[in-house]
Amino acid sequence: MAVTEKIDTLVNLYHNDKLSHVYLIETNSISQATNDILNLSKKINCENEYEINCHKCNLCNLINQNFLPSLIIIEPDGNNIKKEQVIDLKKRFSYKALYTKNNIYILKEADKLNLTAANTMLKFIEEPGENIYGFLLTRNINNVIPTIKSRCELLSLQYEDNQINDIDEYKKVAIDYISKIELENSPKIMYNRNVILNNYCEKENIIRIFQEMLKIYFEAYSQNKKILALNKLTKVELQKRINLIIKFLSDIDSNANVELLLDRFVIELSDDYD
Ligand SMILES: [Zn+2]
Repeated sequence: MAVTEKIDTLVNLYHNDKLSHVYLIETNSISQATNDILNLSKKINCENEYEINCHKCNLCNLINQNFLPSLIIIEPDGNNIKKEQVIDLKKRFSYKALYTKNNIYILKEADKLNLTAANTMLKFIEEPGENIYGFLLTRNINNVIPTIKSRCELLSLQYEDNQINDIDEYKKVAIDYISKIELENSPKIMYNRNVILNNYCEKENIIRIFQEMLKIYFEAYSQNKKILALNKLTKVELQKRINLIIKFLSDIDSNANVELLLDRFVIELSDDYD
C-alpha cells in the first residue's frame, strides 16, 4: 500500500473512532514521515474539506507554522530524548486541546529515548488521557526499547523517492549545523558531536551535509538567498567559509579521521587571524 493510502486509512480509522492511541512507525525518512503525520493532523482537523496545501483555514496555517498548541513534535536534545521532554509533553497535554478535538504528538527517533525517558513514556502510553494520539518514528524498529515497542501499534512508511527526501534531510541538518556554529556561544566542537557525528557516521552522509552547506554559503555569497544565521557575515567572511568547506570536501576523500577534520573545520572557522 502506498504511503498516502496508509495515511488515508488512518484518517478513516480516526473518524470511526478506531485510531490507536500510539503508533510506532518504521520509516526510511523521518522528515518525510513527520510531514505525513502533519498532513494527517490537517486532514482530521481542517475546518474546510482538506485539500493539499490548505491555506484557507486557521488550523492548517497553525500546523504549517508549527504553532498549533495541540500538536507537539519531540526530537532528541543532543544524544537522546530526555525524561524532562516527556514530562513536559505530559504537562502540556494535561489540558484539553483548545482549537482541536485531539492532541497529537510526534516523537522523532524513538530509539533515542533514554531509559528514564522511556519509563516515563511507558506510563504515558498506558494512560494517555482522552483524545491523545502519538506517533513514534524510528529508522529501525529493532532499536526501540521492547517494552515501548510491545505497547504500540506497528506501522511502516517507506518512501520510494528516497533521493529527494534525503536531500531535504541533509539540507535540514546543514541549516541546523550552520545556525549553531555561526550563532551560538558554546564551543563549536560540541556541535560536531551533537549535530553530525552522533547521527551520521558514514563518510558519504557527512559529505552530503557539507555539499548542502556549500550551496547555502554560496547562495549567501552571491546574494541570491540568505538564511538568517548568515545575515551578519561579510563577503570576506563568507568567502573564507566557502574555502574551508571546499578544503574539507577535498580532504575527507583521502583522510580517514573525519572527526579530526570536522574539529579542524570549526577551529579554522573561528580563527580571526586567518
Ligand atoms: Zn485547512
